[in-house]
Amino acid sequence: MGAGDETQVDVEVLIVGAGMTGLYQLHRALEEGFTAEVVEAGDGVGGTWFWNRYPGARFDSESYTYAYLFSRELFDEWAWTEHFAGQPEIERYLNHVVDRFDLRRHMAFRTRVTSAVWDDAGACWVVTLADVQVDAERVVRARFLVGATGVLSVPFYPDVPGREDFAGVSVHTGRWPQEPVDLAGKRVAVIGTGSSGVQIIPNIVDEVASLTVYQRTANWCTPLNNRPITDVEQAALRADFVRMKEILDTSVAGFLHEPSGRVTFDDTAEERQAFYEQMWNSPGFTKLSSNYVDLLLDPKANAEWCDFIAAKVRSIVVDPEVAERLIPDDHVFGEKRPPFVERYYEAFNDPKVSLVDLKATPILRVVPEGIETADGLVELDVIIWATGFDFGTGALLRMGIVGRDGVTLADHWADGPTTFLGVGTHGFPNLFFPGGPHAAAGNNPRYNGDQVDFVTDLLCEARRRGATVVEPTQDAEDRWTAMIDKAADQPPSFGKSSYFFGANVPGKPRRYLLNAGGRPKLFKEIDRVKATDWAAFDLSP
Ligand SMILES: Cc1cc2nc3c(=O)[nH]c(=O)nc-3n(C[C@H](O)[C@H](O)[C@H](O)COP(=O)(O)OP(=O)(O)OC[C@H]3O[C@@H](n4cnc5c(N)ncnc54)[C@H](O)[C@@H]3O)c2cc1C
Repeated sequence: MGAGDETQVDVEVLIVGAGMTGLYQLHRALEEGFTAEVVEAGDGVGGTWFWNRYPGARFDSESYTYAYLFSRELFDEWAWTEHFAGQPEIERYLNHVVDRFDLRRHMAFRTRVTSAVWDDAGACWVVTLADVQVDAERVVRARFLVGATGVLSVPFYPDVPGREDFAGVSVHTGRWPQEPVDLAGKRVAVIGTGSSGVQIIPNIVDEVASLTVYQRTANWCTPLNNRPITDVEQAALRADFVRMKEILDTSVAGFLHEPSGRVTFDDTAEERQAFYEQMWNSPGFTKLSSNYVDLLLDPKANAEWCDFIAAKVRSIVVDPEVAERLIPDDHVFGEKRPPFVERYYEAFNDPKVSLVDLKATPILRVVPEGIETADGLVELDVIIWATGFDFGTGALLRMGIVGRDGVTLADHWADGPTTFLGVGTHGFPNLFFPGGPHAAAGNNPRYNGDQVDFVTDLLCEARRRGATVVEPTQDAEDRWTAMIDKAADQPPSFGKSSYFFGANVPGKPRRYLLNAGGRPKLFKEIDRVKATDWAAFDLSP
């Protein structure tokens, strides 16, 4: 900060969001001696892991690779029980981190940012904070505003007539209440078979009276292959911390998985089947990161892997018609984010479960008694909306951000987001959004952590120079965004039908919302920024 600037603002770094990213940003800012606060709309710590407390919510990144790595002591004292921990354990972990690093006194919950307006004369953000429970507001002047608001934090509901008319319980997986939802003996609908839908279905099937699954798009689901972490594995993880951190800090997608180095049709048909079987039985994202290296590049290779999965589905699901409906026919593996499952396909063998194909029989309306399609009314007690999120830009665009010259972020991004490094955008000085649009395709905390570290370095550089205004240049932003738009057109990027292009939200611009260049591009550009004395940013007093 420049001399005396502290008197002009209430806080130097105001962070929005108490998820993985916001907590780490708070820790780093305090560690570097800035005054910093987190505001969070929710009633507790955790972001994603606070809101998504539905039965079956869990990691599909390995727990220890998702966890924070900035403190060896923290890593050593926390013993994850499973390779892919469930939501309750993750929420406990994040609360432990908050208390362990004495962060809670810098946090305000039930507090939503409703507007943030750049004040050029004061070189600060004027931020309006609304209490989400009572009708009260306060205004805070912050030198820097960090929107750690998450890419999957705004639940999306399809435009179905009558949603509000339902007389029973209606709940979105991304806003699952803290008090348990009573599903025992109830007639339940799950709408959506994306990552959340496929997690919740097998975890509630035993207790409900009936379960109607409304599927718009079948997904290429493969087993998560979760299991407890044994004492021997725990000891090995601790002993291996330095090497593991090194791999995670530098790997392309932030995982430990090794690429296979194998090309599909270099193997014989028999070898390929054995390899697919090995993939099917291996944990989580290895099906993408350690599969044949040409899986997402060669359509014939991809088709054969899809055939393998389809055969698995047919072998698990007893009713052949249901099996066919569960096999995707409109996209290939990796075009959308592939979900990982436990006992998902098996659930459809339970006579209580029925599958409705929304392409054949769309929902006509929700009525007080249940859901109506062309096939008639299904009477229900509970509707679970597992219908995903307004990905990438959803939360930032709802924050009422107004930058230089009165330009809103919504106008600035009317055609989709443009950023530099996914951390800032020209015309919006002193605003950073690690873990936001142009985020990672991979293990999120690793990439988001890279961005937080970069933002923190930038804040330190500004302080060193006595600069109060920090803004990416238009040129830097154009270059970065052009790289993303170009790479987005080529595999291995996710396909244009995925929510990573905003395809699930009607009217949303179809533009890639991830950094298609991945971590290598991020690292390269960060090195370049530092090697060129931060020329990609205007730093002014
Ligand atoms: C069910 C589920 C499972 C997932 N599993 C994985 C996984 O296994 N591996 C992986 O890498 N990623 C996973 N993800 C992605 C996950 O979102 C990220 O890993 C990570 O949790 C994001 O952290 P974050 O802090 O950036 O954002 P979030 O955790 O989303 O936190 C953002 C917070 O900002 C708050 N906020 C937003 N707007 C405002 C506002 N205007 N005012 C105040 N507060 C606001 C929100 O309430 C929210 O609490 C999963 C996502 C979901 C939904």
